[in-house]
Amino acid sequence: MNRANKPSQRFVHWPARPDSTTRQGLPEAAAERRGTTAGLAGTAPAPIATRRAPLPAAVPGPSRCLPRRSGLDSDAVRRAMVDRLRQQGDYDERVLQALLAVPRHHFVEPALAAQAYLDNALPIGHEQTISKPSVIARGLDAALRMLAPRQTLGKVLDIGTGCGYAAAVTARIADDVYSVERIRALHDLARANLRALRVPNLRLLLGDGMAGCPAGAPFDVIISAAAALEPPQAWLDQLAIGGVLVAPLGDPQQLVLLRKRGTTRFEVQSIEGAKFVPLKSGLK
Ligand code: SAH
Repeated sequence: MNRANKPSQRFVHWPARPDSTTRQGLPEAAAERRGTTAGLAGTAPAPIATRRAPLPAAVPGPSRCLPRRSGLDSDAVRRAMVDRLRQQGDYDERVLQALLAVPRHHFVEPALAAQAYLDNALPIGHEQTISKPSVIARGLDAALRMLAPRQTLGKVLDIGTGCGYAAAVTARIADDVYSVERIRALHDLARANLRALRVPNLRLLLGDGMAGCPAGAPFDVIISAAAALEPPQAWLDQLAIGGVLVAPLGDPQQLVLLRKRGTTRFEVQSIEGAKFVPLKSGLK
């Protein structure tokens, strides 16, 4: 993380009005959304693969090389991207190694593969984008720092699977990842993208992430790739005590780091300004 981008604000309580963090005193908007969400309660999420062996450091097979006509060596360009990130900031080395291990070009259309190792958001269809590597890195880095001295992120809920890239990166530094997507076509795309990579500790779920994932709770970390004005109450409820939420929140958006200190006690810190797609309710 660039030192200039380090979380600058001191911890404050979230939300500003303490009574609105209690179950009884849910903010109106959150309560309304809760009523309209298609939850995941009771679903027994299936792992996308059952093999428990860890991923090899460099993923073999078709993901190793960009499409032939691109004329690029994906291992080399991926290493160059990670080297640039390493120079730009002081990201935790575990995060950089995770980015190095996951072939981002495998998650975008062949026509965009040559741009996969630029630090850009790229379209993945359905008006959604694959997140910028530096933004994914910043969120994971912040969560790891917050959870130190723990060595992994533990059990993670990833909101907004999209093409599955961030979920695959997260799975490298977590014990288990549950990733939820509301758009069926993207859920299917992620499943197809991830099949060849065999990520045994990643479960993909089709559902409205606003309801979290009660079947997997409590979570050590919840990470959202979609922005809300305030965190849905389900996320706060499903965080373990001591757990961390990383999410774009507010207007204007801020990438926020929230720590659950007690059942209804939260501390929040802004990481930086953000520009994420909106969190929407319901399935599509
Ligand atoms: N992490 C993704 C980024 C996808 S963009 C990647 O690496 O590709 C954010 C995603 O959040 C979109 O796919 C969008 O459909 C999804 N999303 C928005 N609201 C959601 C909700 N309520 N539940 C689940 N996913 C949601």
